[in-house]
Amino acid sequence: MIGFEYARASTIADAVNQVGATPGAKFLAGGTNLVDLMKVRVETPAKLIDVTHLPLDRVEKTPNGGLKIGALVRNSDLAYHPLVERHYPILSSAILAGASQQLRNMATVGGNLVQRTRCAYFYDLTMDCNKRQPGAGCAAKNGLNRMNAILGTSEACIAVHPSDMCVALAVLESSVHVVGPRGERTISLSDFHRLPGDTPHHETNLEPDELITAVVLPPQGFAANHTYIKIRDRMSYAFALVSVAVGLELDGGKIKEARFALGGVAHRPWRNARSEAALAGQPPTAAAFAKAADVVMGEAKGYGHNTFKIDLARRAIVRALSQAAGGTPQSQSHKKFA
Ligand code: SF4
Repeated sequence: MIGFEYARASTIADAVNQVGATPGAKFLAGGTNLVDLMKVRVETPAKLIDVTHLPLDRVEKTPNGGLKIGALVRNSDLAYHPLVERHYPILSSAILAGASQQLRNMATVGGNLVQRTRCAYFYDLTMDCNKRQPGAGCAAKNGLNRMNAILGTSEACIAVHPSDMCVALAVLESSVHVVGPRGERTISLSDFHRLPGDTPHHETNLEPDELITAVVLPPQGFAANHTYIKIRDRMSYAFALVSVAVGLELDGGKIKEARFALGGVAHRPWRNARSEAALAGQPPTAAAFAKAADVVMGEAKGYGHNTFKIDLARRAIVRALSQAAGGTPQSQSHKKFA
């Protein structure tokens, strides 16, 4: 590991001041991704600013009936929070599908949002990687790309965002609250993560000197008709090959509103407005779900080892929509396929 400075932030303003004062400084919260990356020299921050003592660890109701989740709330605490379990079970389920219990006990909401891809070439300093070293090339495109993206890719990068939590946050249409030297601002979850384009090293629209303070959920939680399906190589402690989060609102035997997002297939949680809109007003049938899946996957492109994901995702979308419509969400605690 490289040498670095360490300091603890005493207030939010102090944290922002410190990160702005030292080029290459980074915030440290749970450290479950950043420290791993430092050990293999992919991340080489000049200074770590420990924010774990800041008062950002609360879950509070908002005046409009939503929920404000502090950026330092641990993933486990959020997944088992009574308000989340009752009103936003899709979020609870997605979080419990990720990582391991020990990691969830350490990892924070803010950290989960900004975790880096697990593309194997990104972690290997001997391989070409535009995300790690802009202009170097992308070893994954013609390499072992089984875990890589099939949607929203670019010539420069085919990495996926590894989060489960963010896939549910996309369906819930949450927003990310941040603060920096220019003040506070809110970024919708759909605008938070970027596609790789020509600049895969810029993964989010968060500025380097901005601190995430909270994630806010609107009141609509899709508690009655939701699911989170995660398909992976083993039933625990594995990243998604494909995941699907669904929230449906049903009315009189028809779909009033459909939202679904995919994980494990793109550089950000993937939603398709055209596909969701086509479901509105339809009865919740397998045929309607298959059409919706075809719309999404019609835009997909495989790179060889990962081409199987196109059919896998198509079937996962149909299954997830069916589970949500039936009110039979897949349990991430018991890890059984329904
Ligand atoms: Fe790097 Fe992206 Fe290519 Fe992986 S897919 S090697 S992260 S540029």
